[in-house]
Amino acid sequence: MSNGCRLHISRRKRSDETEKRVVIALGGNALGSTLPEQMAAVKTTAAAIVDLIEVDCEVVVIHGNGPQVGMINNAMIALTHEDEAQPNTPLSVCVAMSQAYIGYDLQNALREELLSRGITDIPVATMITQVRVDGKDPAFLNPSKPIGKFLSAEAAEEVAAKYGYIMKEDAGRGFRRVVASPKPAEIIEIGTIRTMVESGDLVIACGGGGIPVIRQGNHLKGASAVIDKDFASCLLAKELDADSLIILTAVEKVAVNYGKPDEKWLNELSVSEAKSYIEKGHFAPGSMLPKVEAAIDFASSKEGRTAIITLLEKSRDAVQGKTGTVFHK
Ligand code: ADP
Ligand code: MG
Repeated sequence: MSNGCRLHISRRKRSDETEKRVVIALGGNALGSTLPEQMAAVKTTAAAIVDLIEVDCEVVVIHGNGPQVGMINNAMIALTHEDEAQPNTPLSVCVAMSQAYIGYDLQNALREELLSRGITDIPVATMITQVRVDGKDPAFLNPSKPIGKFLSAEAAEEVAAKYGYIMKEDAGRGFRRVVASPKPAEIIEIGTIRTMVESGDLVIACGGGGIPVIRQGNHLKGASAVIDKDFASCLLAKELDADSLIILTAVEKVAVNYGKPDEKWLNELSVSEAKSYIEKGHFAPGSMLPKVEAAIDFASSKEGRTAIITLLEKSRDAVQGKTGTVFHK
């Protein structure tokens, strides 16, 4: 059979020794909160990622989805109001939709950035990824992750009664749906992700922490949850035997006494120092704490592995040791 009509990309040999395998976790600021914001943000994000490829990193990308999964969830609720034949959309399906929506923008922006720098041998692809969680994870009994928009007390009561959602007051700003955030236990598509990475593709995987599923024999049942992308990025980096996990967020470094007069930005942290700062409450739960926990987990998992927390725009400087907070064993 002739394959004359296929677009042939000769892939870069990517497992050579000069390359460092890096898992990049993108935070909220890498994607924005609305469709036009995301379209603009992915351009900057793609430039930061291709900067790393240009300094000989083999990059695998994972991203968060807090605003996007909330937006999709609200849109699907609106659909049920409009059309009674449409039942409520499970949260696992909303996460799947967010992976496709974000992956589409991101893979397009990455492709364009690579081509505009003359890099023609790295295909880009998004892997729709399921991540197994434990149905007995205590997080299911204590939903803590707010998603979606803020509602009045009356509107919150209405959706709680209609869909059984748990609504919580969020810092004086109104009521939001809170969902469970169980720990990731297994990346279902890891074999395929590994094959793609090994063959030289630039892969976006485990978006939004992965589609949460619970194993029921051969069946994977979607779970009503949103997995923290910081924890999923650590599992992905370990599974791919990455050299570094780089968590890109809205601050250049991690601080102790954050926001206080005696705030101190940290250049490096050993695992034991980081653990003692956690005990003293230096990292806010739901924002910096999961990043620091993921960084500790990765840095202590094998000799030579490092984790870095820094700003998106500083990622190249950070892999070259010039900035960010570096976690080591
Ligand atoms: P992302 O969308 O990247 O996951 P988050 O808002 O969840 O971002 O977490 C990053 C935020 O954590 C920072 O912007 C900062 O406001 C906050 N933060 C809390 N504690 C600390 C700390 N000790 N050092 C630095 N930033 C901190
Ligand atoms: Mg976060």
